[in-house]
Amino acid sequence: MFSIAIDGPAGAGKSTVAKRLAADCQMIYVDTGAMYRTIGYYILQQGLNPKNPEDVIPQLPNIHIGISYSQEGGQRISLNGKDVSQEIRLPEMSMASSNVSAIPQVRSFLLDLQRNMAKEYDVIMDGRDIGTVVLPNADLKIFLTASPEERSRRRFLEYQAKGLPTSYEDTLADVQKRDYQDSHREVAPLKQAQDAVLLDTTGLNFEQTVEQIKLIIKERFCHVL
Ligand code: C5P
Repeated sequence: MFSIAIDGPAGAGKSTVAKRLAADCQMIYVDTGAMYRTIGYYILQQGLNPKNPEDVIPQLPNIHIGISYSQEGGQRISLNGKDVSQEIRLPEMSMASSNVSAIPQVRSFLLDLQRNMAKEYDVIMDGRDIGTVVLPNADLKIFLTASPEERSRRRFLEYQAKGLPTSYEDTLADVQKRDYQDSHREVAPLKQAQDAVLLDTTGLNFEQTVEQIKLIIKERFCHVL
């Protein structure tokens, strides 16, 4: 099986880029952030505190996550049989997912699910620890980043397009807080794998970013494209 790991901070463009590459390269796109968001969503729904391991860990056996793919190739995610792909995108789910993701038991709960997908399919998997922990032997690792201001601008435009009530300042504060939290946690913090290619997309648009990665793929594995 062939695998590409794309890691990086919130709003770096990982998911849009990974989705397009997966479609063009006929691979399966696996959005691991959606899995953490689903756990955060469940915990909030239960009225529990996503930061408190004593609230979160006993709930894990009650959480059944299903992954499927729509005709357009987008990942759909279900929680105990109900599709929650939209709900997990609400702004408050970002911090809840970051909070639960710092709990080691939550990370190991999701690890098998993530690794099994890479055993079964050619995957482009995005997240924070794919190149460092989940798929340390990935065929290609990309670390995608951009300045916090640019990443917040992109995230804010996404929220606006969906009609979600939030401001640029709140989005920037959320991005900065998650950057800090995700890079400073003890287990599987966000960091660039030693053998990852660093790509800063601050001055690049979507198409340019996709082209840059395709060039890297072509240089290394011309048989794939
Ligand atoms: O990628 P996304 O912003 O949807 O991820 C939501 C949160 O899930 C991140 O802020 C991060 O805390 C967590 N996450 C993680 N490891 C991953 C993917 C996401 O810790 N592989």
